[in-house]
Amino acid sequence: MNHSNHSTGRVDSTDVVIVGAGPIGIEMAVALRRRGLRFEILESGVVGQTMSWWAPQTRWFSSNERIAIAGVPLITPDQSKATREEYLNYLRGVVMQFDIRVRTGEKVVDVARSSAPPADRPLIVTSRSTAGRRQLRCKGVVLAIGGTDFPRRLSIPGEDLPHVDGYLRETHRYFGRRVLIIGGRNSAIEAALRLHHVGARVSLSYRGDALPEESIKYWLRPEINGLIAGGRIAAHFATRPTKITPTHVELEPVGDSRNGSDQIQTVAADDVLCLIGYEQDKTLFETAGIELVDETRRPKVDIATMRSNVPGVYVAGTAVAGTQNSRYKTFLENCHEHIDKIIADLTGQVGAGHPVPVFADQVAANPES
Ligand code: NAP
Repeated sequence: MNHSNHSTGRVDSTDVVIVGAGPIGIEMAVALRRRGLRFEILESGVVGQTMSWWAPQTRWFSSNERIAIAGVPLITPDQSKATREEYLNYLRGVVMQFDIRVRTGEKVVDVARSSAPPADRPLIVTSRSTAGRRQLRCKGVVLAIGGTDFPRRLSIPGEDLPHVDGYLRETHRYFGRRVLIIGGRNSAIEAALRLHHVGARVSLSYRGDALPEESIKYWLRPEINGLIAGGRIAAHFATRPTKITPTHVELEPVGDSRNGSDQIQTVAADDVLCLIGYEQDKTLFETAGIELVDETRRPKVDIATMRSNVPGVYVAGTAVAGTQNSRYKTFLENCHEHIDKIIADLTGQVGAGHPVPVFADQVAANPES
């Protein structure tokens, strides 16, 4: 058992510090527990932080066996894909089953190499919580910090008004309200359908000429197309918002559909949902000295071991993909193998009994189904 050193200034030791208690962070913790390695798992938010901000009763797009972790079955009462609530319950169950002490509300602010002896120069992880600052000495750090920290911003006037939001909330609150949704992929379309069914008057602004059919889940497509064709959801294609006021949104034509016209349309909206994707918080990577590459600014890792350029620091889960844009390729379901790779590198035990999903080839070909 590790002891807190918030007040004493003492630096405790462990083998591995996991940063992030999402599914991959927890799966990493179970793998370490099974091998008898000491670890701490620190989470700035709550267990399953990303799912915690999903609207209530949002259902995963991925099948249960693909998002189950640590070989623990994820079973739903009606065999459907798990909801946010079922999955958060499941994560708590796994944490309890393996007696994992997740330090929630404890934000890691720095990972650095000790400048003092001993000669192997351990890593020092600094964290902050309401109890104060804490430091941990360790041999390895696994950053399982995800990639959807902030909603992407439009950077237009009015974006910070209180009725403008980057997250879909409890759907009941939109009943009877005029909601303009900005975006044209799965978050926007799923929200449009749910809000239509909850009794909101939904309109959509998308910068493309038509919905990107190949990117929208096949079970959402017929319904959204039917509702748009029937005029029950107003779709403003080839538009982009330029200004949001307390009562309206101004939409400007974009692309070929301009037809020589720059005429601004004004759409009335009580609520504006900017569902245009999410961005990764790079702060910890930058502080730790991890090299970021390409336009996603993903951490550069050796894919055989998940090692970053900083010795002893690994990256696992969707965090490896950086800020993903419209065509997401890295999901929880194709990240489970990161655990085996890190365990093998840490212990020298290749494939040491971690269950290999039988559908691994299908996941690569057809993720998120
Ligand atoms: P996304 O796939 O990145 O799509 C963002 C949308 O916003 C795109 O239509 C994009 O246009 C548009 N956009 C981006 N920047 C814009 C800007 N500056 N101005 C105007 N429009 C802009 O994001 P997402 O729909 O949030 O999906 C993210 C991931 O979550 C995906 O993997 C998705 O499948 C997943 N998801 C899962 C669930 C679930 O499990 N229940 C629900 C929703 C989403 P373009 O199309 O032109 O690029």
